[in-house]
Amino acid sequence: MELDNQSFREQAHRLVDWMADYIENAENFPVRSQQLPGDTFKQIPDAPPKKSEAMEEILSDFQEKILPGITHWQSPNFFAYFPANTSYASLLAEMITATLGAQCMIWETSPAAAELEEKMMIWLRDLIGLPNAFQGVIQDTASTATLCALLTAREKKSAFLVNQKGLQTAPIYRVYCSGETHSSIEKDVKIAGLGKDNLVKIEVDENLALIPEKLEEAIRTDLKKGFEPLCIIAATGTTSTTAMDPLQPMGEIAQKYNIWFHVDAAYAGTAMLLPEERHWQEGVELADSYVFNPHKWMFTNFDCTAYFVKDTQSLIRTFSILPEYLKTKNQGIVNDYRDWGIPLGRRFRALKLWFVMRNMGVQGMQEKLRNHICLAKWLEEQIVQHSAFELMAPRTLNLVCFRYHPQGIENEQELDKTNSELLQTLNNAGRLYLTQTKVKGKCTIRLVCGQTYVEEKHVKAAWDCIQEVATNICLPLKKM
Ligand code: PLP
Repeated sequence: MELDNQSFREQAHRLVDWMADYIENAENFPVRSQQLPGDTFKQIPDAPPKKSEAMEEILSDFQEKILPGITHWQSPNFFAYFPANTSYASLLAEMITATLGAQCMIWETSPAAAELEEKMMIWLRDLIGLPNAFQGVIQDTASTATLCALLTAREKKSAFLVNQKGLQTAPIYRVYCSGETHSSIEKDVKIAGLGKDNLVKIEVDENLALIPEKLEEAIRTDLKKGFEPLCIIAATGTTSTTAMDPLQPMGEIAQKYNIWFHVDAAYAGTAMLLPEERHWQEGVELADSYVFNPHKWMFTNFDCTAYFVKDTQSLIRTFSILPEYLKTKNQGIVNDYRDWGIPLGRRFRALKLWFVMRNMGVQGMQEKLRNHICLAKWLEEQIVQHSAFELMAPRTLNLVCFRYHPQGIENEQELDKTNSELLQTLNNAGRLYLTQTKVKGKCTIRLVCGQTYVEEKHVKAAWDCIQEVATNICLPLKKM
């Protein structure tokens, strides 16, 4: 019963039909899985079967036991977090990647993978308007890419002594970012051995963007205390609200004090495919490194992070290590990407970028992105015009941050409670999926119009649903 070539062929054909059906019907599933903790675990036997089981049986179990525990990220009613988009072309590439099963750690283990990656990073760099001084490499996630930036900055600053001797003899390094940046930065600072206490959170303005004067003040204070400023991290699109830090003044400060300047554009980097949105990254040429995730908004299956860096020599010197078994004749002539990041083993991720960019074309991707931004603008207008809803942060791209604020409730705790309840009720019903954040301490609902297959009708239905549920939630209050 174990699959052979012929039965694999048959099963795979059937599976492709299932895949196409799934995408077509994704909007009919409850978006967030409705399962309770332990629901899947208890359905799976405690040990694997001794004998081969038929694929039909395995697939039927998948439908029955696994699918109910899946949250449907490819549903057009998925408005939560940031999307993790796929597309048909990306799925096809992933099928090939899995079939080849190539482990692309060095050029020799698949020259085409290394060279396609090099070319795709040039395509992407040019598409998002980064200067030619940047070279790119694919990483698994933005968290890893930012860690690479911090480690490279640390090594460059210490003349590669930390790699040699450890941090014991090093000065106290300081990293600067706004309090609105993603939690991965704090995690990376901890992993890099720099210490969470040395991550300096800089105040933000009314748009939730870092205040450059406060950044310079913090650097000067640190210098007086004998600390060593190491890295400034700007967010081009924060996770909570897609707030945009001012890259130009931040980059100038970085240059003035000889500090590494890293830009986290994990989500909003994709918007830079649109020339009209590039003003958000004015000053990006001052950056030393830049990260964005095609696996979020750019229709490319998770995982696929594009990391761009100017000083590739320092990056490689930070990470390269050459045991006998990895030596090849082409050392130094080709890109061995294992030296450009943390893991040795690497998936062939460039293929899906190639498929997506060719099949959708730049115009196809731009059209979708513009449409997503338009949908968010429409929703923003509805919220602004509605007397019982309010916008909680400026909309920069396709994320709308709002809360329900009916007349008669002015107490902030009460408003937080009402909005939490609204969110839970909406998500429990399964018609759409939203997530929350805090804006200036206030409970805020986030709605991202960025899913590959989202259309106007989905956003309109979501807005109707939100109003309907909100009104019902407040009924008991009104009666009081
Ligand atoms: N940076 C920002 C601004 C993000 O929004 C996120 C995730 O949403 C990350 C970093 C982390 O991304 P990843 O999951 O690729 O590590």
